[in-house]
Amino acid sequence: MLLPNTKRILLKLSGEVLMGDQQFGIDTAFVDKLAEEVKAARDTGLEICLVIGGGNIFRGMAGAAKGMDRAQADYMGMLATVMNALAMQNALEQIGVPTRVQSAIEMDKVCEPVIRRRAERHLEKGRIVIFAAGVGAPYFTTDSGAALRAAEMKCDALFKGTSVDGVYDSDPKSNPDAIRFETVDYGTVLAKNLKVMDASAVALCRDNDIPIVVFSIREKGNLAKVLGGKGVQTIVEKGA
Ligand code: UDP
Repeated sequence: MLLPNTKRILLKLSGEVLMGDQQFGIDTAFVDKLAEEVKAARDTGLEICLVIGGGNIFRGMAGAAKGMDRAQADYMGMLATVMNALAMQNALEQIGVPTRVQSAIEMDKVCEPVIRRRAERHLEKGRIVIFAAGVGAPYFTTDSGAALRAAEMKCDALFKGTSVDGVYDSDPKSNPDAIRFETVDYGTVLAKNLKVMDASAVALCRDNDIPIVVFSIREKGNLAKVLGGKGVQTIVEKGA
């Protein structure tokens, strides 16, 4: 195990990874592969809370940039995360993993509301709990939702699976000389505005002492490697 004494994790997947190689939307075949990875992690005995973004469908900022009211656009983004959560629930249950979706925007025809004590019971029973709709408020992102759920569910770490394999000192997509950190402290991430998660999410993890492990979920088997301490990742944690 990468981090000792880790029993419960929050796994945050960016919405964009659900696109697979598409430009938009949900690639169900790729979601099936992601579900296999999540199942393998759960089969090691870990309790898993899952948060999935919505950027593959709609981002509030993109809507606002085109002239939409920001809050209205953000609510659309939150609804996008519910669609992704349902897609992941479907993929997980098809391979025999019991799950529950809890949404911060109540939608009782399709999922449960967020009820912490109920989520706790689901985890005890071996279910994966997928938290949808972020924090349920505009002007936030699912990263903040992930940090919030990680704190309230007392997760030992927040694993952020994205399309980049860690935290770099500059954008690796535009700078080939960008250097990846093995570990970096919360303060440096915030002071240098490093691209990990938004500042409110990083601050919440810092205040609750939750390490953030940033890794690429795009490569097959990588989640298991990272959990086993053999993968490539960056750990954001307390400074020495
Ligand atoms: N969003 C929001 N409040 C939240 C979580 C999400 O308003 O608590 C909206 C916001 O517009 C965001 C969109 O939902 O852009 C999709 O989430 P996010 O951008 O975090 O997805 P990701 O980048 O992880 O795919």
